[in-house]
Amino acid sequence: MITKDYGFPCHGGYANCGKFIRCTHSNPGHAANLRLAIANSCNAYFVHLYRLAVDAPKWGGVKNGHHKWAEYMRSFGLGHRLGIDIPGEYTGTVADTAEINRRYRGQWNSCSELYVGMGQGAVVTTPLQMANAMCIIANKGYYYIPHFVESVDNDKSDILKKYKERHQVANVSDDAYEAVKLGMADVVTSGTGRIAAIDGIEVSGKTGTAENQAKVNGVLTKLKDHSVFVAFAPA
Ligand SMILES: [Zn+2]
Repeated sequence: MITKDYGFPCHGGYANCGKFIRCTHSNPGHAANLRLAIANSCNAYFVHLYRLAVDAPKWGGVKNGHHKWAEYMRSFGLGHRLGIDIPGEYTGTVADTAEINRRYRGQWNSCSELYVGMGQGAVVTTPLQMANAMCIIANKGYYYIPHFVESVDNDKSDILKKYKERHQVANVSDDAYEAVKLGMADVVTSGTGRIAAIDGIEVSGKTGTAENQAKVNGVLTKLKDHSVFVAFAPA
């Protein structure tokens, strides 16, 4: 779809869908390639990428394209339980085409839910899923089901079998993972995650902001944003 050198001319937001999606940066070149777009957390870059993905001609229409997108998301461990060995795991949400069809009564296009490209809207993840996503990036393409274990006395049983199986995710080149890692390293060395820097260890991380609306005395009120940070080391 794109290479790591792909750039998007963001001048402070995304205006291609008839609504303006703001970006925190407006300086020229802040999304001139994948690494920069990650380091600068460019909203325009990633909502545009979602549209390129679901509108790709090979899918024959956005409904099939979005379905493929949802499949990729699930392969990255999102939108379903990972299968950890403690109870109470949440599935998170990755809205598939059927769900979007219901929302829009079948009338929608790649602009309708483009916010998912920047991690908003029809995507909800758990902290465990985000930690697992960090493993996928650190491993360049696979994860093991996370599990809790204090000690293993006799490893000849099958109990641990499913935790030793590699879960390969969508076919992504090492080159692309490298660009993502570098972008995330920039976040910690010179971007919004500088507080996570550790002397002598290269840390790759990503900050995130979630808008926080709740009903206060029956009125939908905008509260202080929630922040999130995920990371792995060594990068
Ligand atoms: Zn931008």
